[in-house]
Amino acid sequence: MNIVLLGAPGSGKGTQASLIGEKFGLPHVSTGDMFRENIREKTPLGVLAKSYIDKGQLCPDDVTVRMVEDRLAREDCKKGFLLDGFPRTLEQAKALEKFVKIDCVLDIDVPLGKLLRRLTGRRCCEKCGESFHVDMLGGAENCPKCGGKLYIRKDDNEETVQNRLDVYVSQTETLIDYYAQAGTLRRIDGDRAIEEVFADVEKVLKAL
Ligand code: ADP
Ligand code: ZN
Repeated sequence: MNIVLLGAPGSGKGTQASLIGEKFGLPHVSTGDMFRENIREKTPLGVLAKSYIDKGQLCPDDVTVRMVEDRLAREDCKKGFLLDGFPRTLEQAKALEKFVKIDCVLDIDVPLGKLLRRLTGRRCCEKCGESFHVDMLGGAENCPKCGGKLYIRKDDNEETVQNRLDVYVSQTETLIDYYAQAGTLRRIDGDRAIEEVFADVEKVLKAL
């Protein structure tokens, strides 16, 4: 099963991706996580990516496509994968088609007006990578799942978040129409509790 997760920043794709990964045993390929790992390790790709990510802009298509193509060619993706955060532009979608067949595109749909608050209230775990909203943490400073330290992503400040949402509307939203025409799109109402969203996701994937 080759799955793409679409959805705006803050729509909960990352959370759903880790749930799907656990349940269906698919590797979770997140371009955001891959870039952040490169940034941490100060690779040349990381240095380049940082200059875009910190401003809330997209990294260039060519380097992003190459990174994904290399990742999907690895052994663990042979039986299927879960792509999170890619494609984000029409160029990327067209490039992706050239090297894999996508079975299903899940669009996690959340009203744009709710995303700013979701993102600026987001806390991420240093250790397991999971993210949580401050409202759910009740003041806790450590990860409810693994106890790791929580931090605020550098691109989750209000100004950068606004840029990311603008980029989503101007570049990524068109992919919804693109995949609807291709017949692979499934829309999921993401404006509900994590478990309810996941129940719908599961239904769709089991029917594939
Ligand atoms: P979110 O979905 O919450 O915005 P991600 O972790 O998926 O966050 O991505 C963080 C940043 O990494 C993006 O704002 C962008 O700068 C960069 N990035 C991730 N995926 C891509 C992509 N497919 N193309 C270009 N840039 C990307
Ligand atoms: Zn954790």
